[in-house]
Amino acid sequence: MESISRRQLFREGSQALAGGVCIGRLFPVNGSTPPTGAVDYYQKLGVTPFINAAGTYTILSASIMPEEVQAAVAWAAQKPVHLMELQKAAGEYLARRLRCEGALVTSGAAAAITLATAACITRGNKSAIANIPAEMQGLRNEVIVQKTHHYDYDHAIRDCGARFIDVETLDEYERAFTERTVMTQFFNAAEGGRIGREDWVRVAHKHGVPCFNDAAADVPPISNLWNYTEMGFDLVAFSGGKGIRGPQCTGLLLGKKDLIDAAQLNNSPYSNTIGRGMKVGKEEIIGLVAAVDWFLKQDDAAMEAEYRARAQRIAELVQGIPSVEARIFIPPVANHVPHLVITYDLNRIKLSAREVMQKMREGVPRIELNPSTGGGPASAGLPGGNNAIVVGVWMLQPGEDQIVGRRLQEVFGEGAK
Ligand SMILES: *Cc1c(COP(=O)(O)O)cnc(C)c1O
Repeated sequence: MESISRRQLFREGSQALAGGVCIGRLFPVNGSTPPTGAVDYYQKLGVTPFINAAGTYTILSASIMPEEVQAAVAWAAQKPVHLMELQKAAGEYLARRLRCEGALVTSGAAAAITLATAACITRGNKSAIANIPAEMQGLRNEVIVQKTHHYDYDHAIRDCGARFIDVETLDEYERAFTERTVMTQFFNAAEGGRIGREDWVRVAHKHGVPCFNDAAADVPPISNLWNYTEMGFDLVAFSGGKGIRGPQCTGLLLGKKDLIDAAQLNNSPYSNTIGRGMKVGKEEIIGLVAAVDWFLKQDDAAMEAEYRARAQRIAELVQGIPSVEARIFIPPVANHVPHLVITYDLNRIKLSAREVMQKMREGVPRIELNPSTGGGPASAGLPGGNNAIVVGVWMLQPGEDQIVGRRLQEVFGEGAK
């Protein structure tokens, strides 16, 4: 953890500006005025939107599409196309831009995981497509995984009727391959696995088995979109609706051409497939293509400087309150952007971090803090604790940092009474 240096923040911020990066374009003001003719259905349904001081969490509807992506989606929605033509063209375009052989737009990273598994089970055996889940049909179905890489998305692999073979050491991994092995699975943001990425890929390839990496939440840096395929992973999944800021229900499966083709055959719009229920429409496909174009125009250093500046503005509003300290924290792999961590003395401010979170949620406007606040559902590498508030600043819209800071000031004030 690094403590905030005001000078450092301002220096970086001004460098970004001096470098010609226009923050206004980088972070376009988002639809606070509804498009002409639009009905505010959130209001009509009685659902109150909030200021997202959390991050790209699925349950909090993840990210907001930049204006140019929203415009591309609205445009695409007006024109019928042949879905197969669109999928193929989008895949080729994305593969070119993302420096890999093949790409497929999926309905989220979770669907990309399922389709990757289905591709590995059915490659070279098209008749197997209709016979997934594999276990019931006696198909090859073993997926090797490190014990520490089991996670909330295991189900996306098991859906295909796959069976996990757990390993811990490199030696166990070497010996785990059988004629039933179809894939090896790597969770990119996992902590504590003993086998690193390079070894994981090398050993799989020695056995002629494709290697999959789930990097769903692992941009920025932007280059991660090709780092793992270039490292040799045969298939890599990203969420389209997190850092890339495409439609929430999209994902990317990137990798070797033959495997991407096999994944496609297991996908919608083909009917008798595991992927048929994971349909992406023209709006999602175009939305993700536009989001990738948008994302590739961004700059890692400028984004980081902007997030640090937002964190600093919030920190300044709370730092004068007795016992309150603010620091910047950057998680190592997933959500690898500056977060603001605010700690305080529970004897001075008599509210637990979860209570602060609840007050922020119930206030006007509603504000959602990062879920690891107060040691809540731990999200990859973020610090927690009964007196630790985590503010995810990267999804804030312009001006919202001030609102979050002032509201935190108020809530701390109530707790200090
Ligand atoms: C968010 C996430 C997913 C699921 O992504 P969706 O796009 O919501 O389907 C899968 N794996 C990891 C590691 C994630 O963080």
